[in-house]
Amino acid sequence: MPLEIVSPRIRGFICTNAHPAGCAASVDAQIRRAEKAGSGDRTGGNGLVIGASTGYGLASWIAGAFAHRMSVLGVFFERPPSEKKTATAGYYNAAALARRAGEKGVRVAAVNGDAFSHAVKREVLDRVRREFAPLDLVIYSLASPVRVHPDDGRTIRSTLKPVGNPYTTKTIDLDRDRVTEITLEPASPEEIADTVAVMGGDDLSRWMRALSEAGLLAPQVRLLAYSYVGPRVTWPIYRTGTIGLAKADLEKTARELDAALKPAGGRSLVSVNAAVVTQASSAIPGVPLYLAIANKILSEKGLLERPIDQILRLFADHARPGKTASLDDEGRIRMDDREMRQDVQELVAERWRAITTDTLPVLADLQAFKHEFRRLFGFEIDGVDYQAPVEIDVAL
Ligand code: NAD
Repeated sequence: MPLEIVSPRIRGFICTNAHPAGCAASVDAQIRRAEKAGSGDRTGGNGLVIGASTGYGLASWIAGAFAHRMSVLGVFFERPPSEKKTATAGYYNAAALARRAGEKGVRVAAVNGDAFSHAVKREVLDRVRREFAPLDLVIYSLASPVRVHPDDGRTIRSTLKPVGNPYTTKTIDLDRDRVTEITLEPASPEEIADTVAVMGGDDLSRWMRALSEAGLLAPQVRLLAYSYVGPRVTWPIYRTGTIGLAKADLEKTARELDAALKPAGGRSLVSVNAAVVTQASSAIPGVPLYLAIANKILSEKGLLERPIDQILRLFADHARPGKTASLDDEGRIRMDDREMRQDVQELVAERWRAITTDTLPVLADLQAFKHEFRRLFGFEIDGVDYQAPVEIDVAL
Protein backbone atom coordinates (compact mmCIF):
# COMPACT_ATOMS: atom_id res chain seq x y z
CA MET A 1 0.00 0.00 0.00
CA PRO A 2 1.34 3.53 -0.70
CA LEU A 3 2.66 5.44 2.29
CA GLU A 4 0.60 8.33 3.58
CA ILE A 5 0.80 11.26 5.97
CA VAL A 6 -1.71 10.66 8.77
CA SER A 7 -3.22 13.67 10.58
CA PRO A 8 -5.85 13.42 13.34
CA ARG A 9 -9.51 13.42 12.33
CA ILE A 10 -11.26 14.49 15.50
CA ARG A 11 -14.77 15.71 16.23
CA GLY A 12 -15.83 16.11 19.83
CA PHE A 13 -14.83 12.96 21.66
CA ILE A 14 -14.50 10.86 18.50
CA CYS A 15 -11.28 10.31 16.55
CA THR A 16 -11.79 8.27 13.42
CA ASN A 17 -8.18 7.46 12.55
CA ALA A 18 -4.91 6.55 14.22
CA HIS A 19 -1.20 6.94 13.58
CA PRO A 20 0.62 3.58 13.35
CA ALA A 21 4.07 4.91 14.24
CA GLY A 22 2.63 7.05 17.03
CA CYS A 23 0.76 4.09 18.54
CA ALA A 24 3.93 1.99 18.32
CA ALA A 25 5.97 4.72 20.04
CA SER A 26 3.36 5.02 22.76
CA VAL A 27 3.40 1.24 23.33
CA ASP A 28 7.21 1.32 23.41
CA ALA A 29 7.19 4.02 26.07
CA GLN A 30 4.79 1.93 28.18
CA ILE A 31 6.96 -1.16 27.71
CA ARG A 32 10.00 0.80 28.92
CA ARG A 33 8.06 1.90 32.03
CA ALA A 34 7.01 -1.70 32.65
CA GLU A 35 10.48 -3.15 32.18
CA LYS A 36 11.93 -0.61 34.58
CA ALA A 37 9.25 -1.23 37.19
CA GLY A 38 9.43 -4.99 36.89
CA SER A 39 13.16 -5.59 36.89
CA GLY A 40 14.02 -8.25 39.46
CA ASP A 41 10.36 -9.19 39.79
CA ARG A 42 9.86 -11.74 37.04
CA THR A 43 6.97 -13.81 38.32
CA GLY A 44 6.14 -15.61 35.07
CA GLY A 45 2.96 -17.65 34.64
CA ASN A 46 0.09 -17.25 32.18
CA GLY A 47 -2.38 -14.43 31.77
CA LEU A 48 -5.48 -13.56 29.76
CA VAL A 49 -6.59 -9.95 29.27
CA ILE A 50 -10.07 -9.37 27.83
CA GLY A 51 -10.20 -5.84 26.36
CA ALA A 52 -6.42 -5.67 25.92
CA SER A 53 -5.81 -3.18 23.12
CA THR A 54 -6.34 0.26 24.69
CA GLY A 55 -6.63 2.00 28.06
CA TYR A 56 -6.45 -0.09 31.20
CA GLY A 57 -6.47 -3.40 29.33
CA LEU A 58 -3.46 -2.46 27.21
CA ALA A 59 -1.64 -1.32 30.35
CA SER A 60 -2.47 -4.70 31.92
CA TRP A 61 -1.24 -6.64 28.90
CA ILE A 62 2.02 -4.67 28.96
CA ALA A 63 2.45 -4.92 32.73
CA GLY A 64 1.90 -8.67 32.72
CA ALA A 65 4.12 -9.41 29.74
CA PHE A 66 6.96 -6.92 30.16
CA ALA A 67 7.11 -6.14 33.90
CA HIS A 68 6.41 -9.66 35.16
CA ARG A 69 7.39 -11.75 32.13
CA MET A 70 4.08 -13.57 32.06
CA SER A 71 2.87 -15.19 28.83
CA VAL A 72 -0.24 -13.17 28.06
CA LEU A 73 -3.04 -13.65 25.55
CA GLY A 74 -4.84 -10.41 24.66
CA VAL A 75 -8.42 -10.31 23.38
CA PHE A 76 -9.89 -7.18 21.79
CA PHE A 77 -12.18 -5.99 18.99
CA GLU A 78 -10.42 -3.60 16.63
CA ARG A 79 -10.73 -2.56 12.98
CA PRO A 80 -7.79 -3.56 10.79
CA PRO A 81 -6.46 -1.14 8.15
CA SER A 82 -8.14 -0.99 4.74
CA GLU A 83 -7.45 0.67 1.38
CA LYS A 84 -8.96 3.96 2.49
CA LYS A 85 -8.75 3.94 6.28
CA THR A 86 -6.15 3.53 8.95
CA ALA A 87 -6.75 0.79 11.51
CA THR A 88 -8.06 1.74 14.94
CA ALA A 89 -5.49 2.72 17.56
CA GLY A 90 -6.05 -0.54 19.44
CA TYR A 91 -5.14 -2.57 16.37
CA TYR A 92 -1.85 -0.67 15.93
CA ASN A 93 -1.17 -0.92 19.69
CA ALA A 94 -1.62 -4.69 19.63
CA ALA A 95 0.52 -5.08 16.51
CA ALA A 96 3.32 -3.02 18.09
CA LEU A 97 3.11 -4.95 21.35
CA ALA A 98 3.25 -8.32 19.58
CA ARG A 99 6.24 -7.18 17.49
CA ARG A 100 8.22 -6.04 20.53
CA ALA A 101 7.32 -9.19 22.45
CA GLY A 102 8.69 -11.27 19.56
CA GLU A 103 11.95 -9.32 19.57
CA LYS A 104 12.34 -9.61 23.33
CA GLY A 105 11.39 -13.27 23.62
CA VAL A 106 8.21 -12.55 25.58
CA ARG A 107 5.32 -14.87 24.72
CA VAL A 108 2.10 -13.10 23.77
CA ALA A 109 -0.74 -13.84 21.38
CA ALA A 110 -3.72 -11.82 20.20
CA VAL A 111 -7.31 -12.69 19.32
CA ASN A 112 -9.12 -9.89 17.50
CA GLY A 113 -12.87 -10.45 17.57
CA ASP A 114 -16.08 -9.98 19.54
CA ALA A 115 -15.42 -11.22 23.07
CA PHE A 116 -19.17 -11.50 23.69
CA SER A 117 -19.52 -14.14 20.96
CA HIS A 118 -19.43 -17.91 21.39
CA ALA A 119 -16.98 -18.17 18.47
CA VAL A 120 -14.35 -15.92 20.06
CA LYS A 121 -14.73 -17.65 23.44
CA ARG A 122 -14.13 -21.00 21.69
CA GLU A 123 -11.09 -19.62 19.84
CA VAL A 124 -9.62 -18.19 23.04
CA LEU A 125 -10.23 -21.43 24.96
CA ASP A 126 -8.47 -23.33 22.25
CA ARG A 127 -5.54 -20.94 22.23
CA VAL A 128 -5.24 -20.99 26.03
CA ARG A 129 -5.37 -24.80 26.05
CA ARG A 130 -2.51 -25.01 23.57
CA GLU A 131 -0.24 -22.21 24.78
CA PHE A 132 -1.35 -20.38 27.94
CA ALA A 133 -2.66 -23.01 30.37
CA PRO A 134 -3.20 -22.95 33.23
CA LEU A 135 -4.16 -19.31 33.64
CA ASP A 136 -2.74 -17.63 36.73
CA LEU A 137 -4.28 -14.26 35.96
CA VAL A 138 -7.44 -13.19 34.13
CA ILE A 139 -8.22 -9.49 33.64
CA TYR A 140 -11.60 -8.27 32.47
CA SER A 141 -11.23 -4.77 31.01
CA LEU A 142 -13.94 -4.70 28.40
CA ALA A 143 -15.63 -1.38 27.62
CA SER A 144 -18.20 -1.51 24.86
CA PRO A 145 -21.29 0.46 23.89
CA VAL A 146 -22.90 -2.56 22.24
CA ARG A 147 -23.29 -6.33 22.61
CA VAL A 148 -24.64 -8.73 20.06
CA HIS A 149 -26.22 -11.25 22.40
CA PRO A 150 -24.55 -14.62 21.80
CA ASP A 151 -27.73 -16.62 22.42
CA ASP A 152 -30.31 -14.82 20.25
CA GLY A 153 -28.26 -12.45 18.03
CA ARG A 154 -30.09 -9.42 19.40
CA THR A 155 -28.08 -6.16 19.25
CA ILE A 156 -28.17 -4.51 22.68
CA ARG A 157 -26.92 -0.97 23.24
CA SER A 158 -25.81 0.58 26.49
CA THR A 159 -26.80 4.14 27.35
CA LEU A 160 -25.16 6.73 29.55
CA LYS A 161 -28.11 8.21 31.40
CA PRO A 162 -29.21 9.03 34.94
CA VAL A 163 -31.68 6.77 36.69
CA GLY A 164 -34.89 8.06 38.29
CA ASN A 165 -34.65 11.80 37.66
CA PRO A 166 -33.43 14.06 34.87
CA TYR A 167 -29.93 15.34 35.51
CA THR A 168 -28.48 18.66 34.48
CA THR A 169 -24.71 18.79 34.40
CA LYS A 170 -21.93 21.04 33.26
CA THR A 171 -20.11 19.62 30.29
CA ILE A 172 -17.61 20.76 27.75
CA ASP A 173 -18.03 21.39 24.06
CA LEU A 174 -14.72 19.98 22.89
CA ASP A 175 -14.94 21.56 19.45
CA ARG A 176 -15.45 25.08 20.80
CA ASP A 177 -13.76 24.91 24.21
CA ARG A 178 -16.92 26.12 25.92
CA VAL A 179 -18.44 25.05 29.23
CA THR A 180 -22.12 24.39 28.63
CA GLU A 181 -24.96 22.64 30.39
CA ILE A 182 -26.91 19.60 29.29
CA THR A 183 -29.94 17.94 30.72
CA LEU A 184 -30.15 14.20 30.43
CA GLU A 185 -33.51 12.50 30.70
CA PRO A 186 -33.67 9.44 32.96
CA ALA A 187 -33.23 6.04 31.39
CA SER A 188 -36.23 3.81 30.74
CA PRO A 189 -36.35 0.40 32.49
CA GLU A 190 -35.40 -1.17 29.15
CA GLU A 191 -32.37 1.11 28.73
CA ILE A 192 -31.23 0.22 32.25
CA ALA A 193 -31.60 -3.50 31.58
CA ASP A 194 -29.78 -3.19 28.26
CA THR A 195 -26.85 -1.30 29.79
CA VAL A 196 -26.53 -3.97 32.47
CA ALA A 197 -26.68 -6.64 29.74
CA VAL A 198 -23.78 -4.99 27.88
CA MET A 199 -21.50 -3.80 30.70
CA GLY A 200 -22.65 -5.89 33.68
CA GLY A 201 -21.42 -9.27 34.88
CA ASP A 202 -23.16 -11.68 32.51
CA ASP A 203 -20.34 -11.89 29.97
CA LEU A 204 -17.69 -12.12 32.69
CA SER A 205 -19.47 -15.04 34.32
CA ARG A 206 -19.76 -16.77 30.92
CA TRP A 207 -16.01 -16.36 30.39
CA MET A 208 -15.13 -17.73 33.82
CA ARG A 209 -17.56 -20.63 33.54
CA ALA A 210 -16.14 -21.60 30.15
CA LEU A 211 -12.53 -21.37 31.36
CA SER A 212 -13.28 -23.26 34.55
CA GLU A 213 -15.26 -26.04 32.84
CA ALA A 214 -12.42 -26.47 30.36
CA GLY A 215 -10.01 -26.88 33.29
CA LEU A 216 -7.90 -23.93 32.16
CA LEU A 217 -7.69 -22.01 35.45
CA ALA A 218 -4.82 -22.55 37.89
CA PRO A 219 -6.15 -23.29 41.40
CA GLN A 220 -4.64 -20.03 42.61
CA VAL A 221 -5.92 -17.97 39.70
CA ARG A 222 -6.46 -14.23 40.24
CA LEU A 223 -9.34 -12.61 38.38
CA LEU A 224 -9.40 -8.82 38.28
CA ALA A 225 -12.44 -6.95 36.99
CA TYR A 226 -12.09 -3.19 36.56
CA SER A 227 -14.67 -0.78 37.88
CA TYR A 228 -15.12 2.89 38.70
CA VAL A 229 -16.75 4.75 41.57
CA GLY A 230 -15.68 8.42 41.35
CA PRO A 231 -16.77 11.47 43.33
CA ARG A 232 -20.29 12.72 43.97
CA VAL A 233 -20.14 15.33 41.19
CA THR A 234 -20.21 12.49 38.65
CA TRP A 235 -22.52 10.09 40.51
CA PRO A 236 -25.82 10.92 38.77
CA ILE A 237 -24.23 10.11 35.40
CA TYR A 238 -21.85 7.43 36.61
CA ARG A 239 -22.23 5.56 39.88
CA THR A 240 -26.01 5.91 40.29
CA GLY A 241 -26.65 6.11 36.53
CA THR A 242 -27.11 3.30 34.02
CA ILE A 243 -23.38 2.56 33.74
CA GLY A 244 -23.05 2.50 37.54
CA LEU A 245 -25.84 -0.08 37.80
CA ALA A 246 -24.00 -2.17 35.22
CA LYS A 247 -20.79 -1.83 37.25
CA ALA A 248 -22.68 -2.82 40.43
CA ASP A 249 -23.81 -5.95 38.59
CA LEU A 250 -20.23 -6.65 37.44
CA GLU A 251 -19.00 -6.24 41.01
CA LYS A 252 -21.69 -8.63 42.27
CA THR A 253 -20.60 -11.21 39.70
CA ALA A 254 -16.97 -10.76 40.77
CA ARG A 255 -17.97 -11.43 44.41
CA GLU A 256 -19.88 -14.57 43.41
CA LEU A 257 -16.88 -15.79 41.43
CA ASP A 258 -14.67 -15.04 44.43
CA ALA A 259 -16.77 -17.34 46.60
CA ALA A 260 -16.46 -20.07 43.96
CA LEU A 261 -12.69 -19.71 43.47
CA LYS A 262 -11.64 -19.23 47.10
CA PRO A 263 -11.85 -22.85 48.31
CA ALA A 264 -9.12 -23.87 45.85
CA GLY A 265 -6.98 -20.81 46.64
CA GLY A 266 -8.12 -18.52 43.83
CA ARG A 267 -9.49 -15.00 44.07
CA SER A 268 -11.82 -12.84 42.04
CA LEU A 269 -11.41 -9.17 42.87
CA VAL A 270 -12.69 -5.85 41.64
CA SER A 271 -10.12 -3.14 41.14
CA VAL A 272 -11.67 0.31 41.31
CA ASN A 273 -9.40 2.29 39.04
CA ALA A 274 -9.02 6.06 38.80
CA ALA A 275 -10.60 8.17 36.08
CA VAL A 276 -8.20 8.49 33.16
CA VAL A 277 -8.51 9.75 29.61
CA THR A 278 -9.53 6.78 27.43
CA GLN A 279 -11.88 6.31 24.51
CA ALA A 280 -14.53 4.92 26.86
CA SER A 281 -14.33 7.66 29.52
CA SER A 282 -14.24 10.54 27.03
CA ALA A 283 -17.71 9.56 25.79
CA ILE A 284 -19.40 10.01 29.19
CA PRO A 285 -21.20 13.38 29.48
CA GLY A 286 -19.39 15.65 31.95
CA VAL A 287 -16.39 13.33 32.34
CA PRO A 288 -14.01 15.23 30.00
CA LEU A 289 -14.67 18.40 32.03
CA TYR A 290 -14.20 16.48 35.28
CA LEU A 291 -10.91 15.06 33.96
CA ALA A 292 -9.71 18.50 32.84
CA ILE A 293 -10.28 19.80 36.38
CA ALA A 294 -9.17 16.75 38.38
CA ASN A 295 -6.05 16.02 36.34
CA LYS A 296 -4.84 19.61 36.71
CA ILE A 297 -5.18 19.29 40.48
CA LEU A 298 -3.57 15.81 40.54
CA SER A 299 -0.75 17.05 38.36
CA GLU A 300 -0.13 20.09 40.60
CA LYS A 301 0.04 17.75 43.60
CA GLY A 302 2.33 15.29 41.79
CA LEU A 303 -0.33 12.55 41.96
CA LEU A 304 -1.31 12.15 38.30
CA GLU A 305 -0.98 8.63 36.88
CA ARG A 306 -1.46 7.28 33.39
CA PRO A 307 -3.06 3.82 33.08
CA ILE A 308 0.34 2.11 32.85
CA ASP A 309 1.52 3.70 36.14
CA GLN A 310 -1.62 2.66 37.89
CA ILE A 311 -1.63 -0.91 36.61
CA LEU A 312 2.05 -1.39 37.48
CA ARG A 313 1.14 -0.23 41.00
CA LEU A 314 -1.85 -2.60 41.01
CA PHE A 315 0.35 -5.56 40.06
CA ALA A 316 3.15 -4.68 42.47
CA ASP A 317 0.98 -3.92 45.50
CA HIS A 318 -2.01 -6.23 45.11
CA ALA A 319 -2.04 -8.68 42.24
CA ARG A 320 1.26 -10.45 41.77
CA PRO A 321 1.58 -13.95 43.20
CA GLY A 322 2.42 -13.93 46.87
CA LYS A 323 0.83 -10.51 47.45
CA THR A 324 -2.31 -10.18 49.53
CA ALA A 325 -4.50 -7.44 48.12
CA SER A 326 -5.64 -4.76 50.55
CA LEU A 327 -9.37 -4.23 50.19
CA ASP A 328 -11.97 -1.62 51.11
CA ASP A 329 -15.12 -2.29 53.18
CA GLU A 330 -16.80 -3.77 50.13
CA GLY A 331 -13.90 -6.07 49.32
CA ARG A 332 -12.48 -4.03 46.43
CA ILE A 333 -8.96 -2.91 45.59
CA ARG A 334 -8.88 0.90 45.45
CA MET A 335 -6.48 2.16 42.80
CA ASP A 336 -8.42 5.43 42.82
CA ASP A 337 -6.93 6.33 46.22
CA ARG A 338 -5.06 9.34 44.80
CA GLU A 339 -8.01 10.67 42.79
CA MET A 340 -10.34 10.26 45.76
CA ARG A 341 -8.09 11.93 48.36
CA GLN A 342 -10.11 14.41 50.38
CA ASP A 343 -7.90 17.41 49.55
CA VAL A 344 -8.14 16.58 45.84
CA GLN A 345 -11.91 16.14 45.84
CA GLU A 346 -12.57 19.28 47.90
CA LEU A 347 -10.73 21.29 45.28
CA VAL A 348 -12.52 19.45 42.45
CA ALA A 349 -15.93 20.28 43.98
CA GLU A 350 -14.95 23.94 44.47
CA ARG A 351 -13.69 24.31 40.90
CA TRP A 352 -16.61 22.35 39.47
CA ARG A 353 -19.00 24.89 41.01
CA ALA A 354 -16.98 27.87 39.77
CA ILE A 355 -16.14 26.67 36.29
CA THR A 356 -17.47 28.59 33.28
CA THR A 357 -16.07 29.21 29.81
CA ASP A 358 -14.31 32.29 31.24
CA THR A 359 -12.71 30.54 34.22
CA LEU A 360 -11.91 27.36 32.26
CA PRO A 361 -8.28 28.30 31.45
CA VAL A 362 -7.53 28.93 35.15
CA LEU A 363 -9.50 26.19 36.88
CA ALA A 364 -8.90 23.32 34.47
CA ASP A 365 -6.35 22.19 31.91
CA LEU A 366 -8.33 21.46 28.79
CA GLN A 367 -5.24 21.42 26.60
CA ALA A 368 -3.73 18.66 28.74
CA PHE A 369 -6.97 16.67 28.35
CA LYS A 370 -6.88 17.13 24.57
CA HIS A 371 -3.20 16.19 24.46
CA GLU A 372 -3.95 12.95 26.35
CA PHE A 373 -6.91 12.28 24.07
CA ARG A 374 -4.80 12.68 20.90
CA ARG A 375 -2.12 10.46 22.39
CA LEU A 376 -4.70 7.64 22.59
CA PHE A 377 -4.67 7.61 18.78
CA GLY A 378 -0.91 7.89 18.37
CA PHE A 379 -0.81 11.66 17.86
CA GLU A 380 1.45 14.12 19.73
CA ILE A 381 3.79 11.34 20.84
CA ASP A 382 7.38 12.45 21.47
CA GLY A 383 9.90 11.54 18.81
CA VAL A 384 7.40 10.77 16.03
CA ASP A 385 7.77 12.64 12.73
CA TYR A 386 4.21 13.45 11.74
CA GLN A 387 5.29 15.04 8.45
CA ALA A 388 6.73 11.72 7.28
CA PRO A 389 4.50 9.38 5.27
CA VAL A 390 3.86 6.04 7.03
CA GLU A 391 2.66 2.58 6.04
CA ILE A 392 -0.86 2.19 7.40
CA ASP A 393 -1.16 -1.44 6.34
CA VAL A 394 0.39 -3.05 9.41
CA ALA A 395 0.09 -6.80 10.02
CA LEU A 396 -1.09 -8.10 13.37
P1 NAD B 1 -11.05 1.43 26.45
O1 NAD B 1 -12.14 1.98 25.61
O2 NAD B 1 -9.72 2.11 26.38
O3 NAD B 1 -10.79 -0.13 26.12
C1 NAD B 1 -11.82 -1.02 25.87
C2 NAD B 1 -11.27 -2.34 25.40
O4 NAD B 1 -12.36 -3.25 25.21
C3 NAD B 1 -10.51 -2.29 24.06
O5 NAD B 1 -9.42 -3.18 24.12
C4 NAD B 1 -11.53 -2.82 23.07
O6 NAD B 1 -10.99 -3.42 21.91
C5 NAD B 1 -12.22 -3.85 23.94
N1 NAD B 1 -13.54 -4.23 23.43
C6 NAD B 1 -14.63 -3.45 23.28
N2 NAD B 1 -15.65 -4.20 22.78
C7 NAD B 1 -15.18 -5.45 22.62
C8 NAD B 1 -15.75 -6.68 22.17
N3 NAD B 1 -17.01 -6.76 21.79
N4 NAD B 1 -14.94 -7.77 22.12
C9 NAD B 1 -13.64 -7.72 22.51
N5 NAD B 1 -13.07 -6.59 22.98
C10 NAD B 1 -13.83 -5.49 23.04
O7 NAD B 1 -11.63 1.39 27.93
P2 NAD B 1 -11.03 1.71 29.37
O8 NAD B 1 -11.44 3.08 29.74
O9 NAD B 1 -9.61 1.29 29.49
O10 NAD B 1 -11.95 0.75 30.24
C11 NAD B 1 -11.59 -0.57 30.56
C12 NAD B 1 -12.20 -0.95 31.90
O11 NAD B 1 -11.70 -0.08 32.91
C13 NAD B 1 -13.73 -0.81 31.91
O12 NAD B 1 -14.26 -1.83 32.72
C14 NAD B 1 -13.92 0.52 32.58
O13 NAD B 1 -15.17 0.66 33.22
C15 NAD B 1 -12.79 0.47 33.60
N6 NAD B 1 -12.43 1.80 34.15
C16 NAD B 1 -12.16 2.84 33.31
C17 NAD B 1 -11.86 4.08 33.87
C18 NAD B 1 -11.56 5.28 33.00
O14 NAD B 1 -11.57 6.41 33.50
N7 NAD B 1 -11.25 5.11 31.73
C19 NAD B 1 -11.81 4.24 35.25
C20 NAD B 1 -12.04 3.14 36.07
C21 NAD B 1 -12.37 1.92 35.51
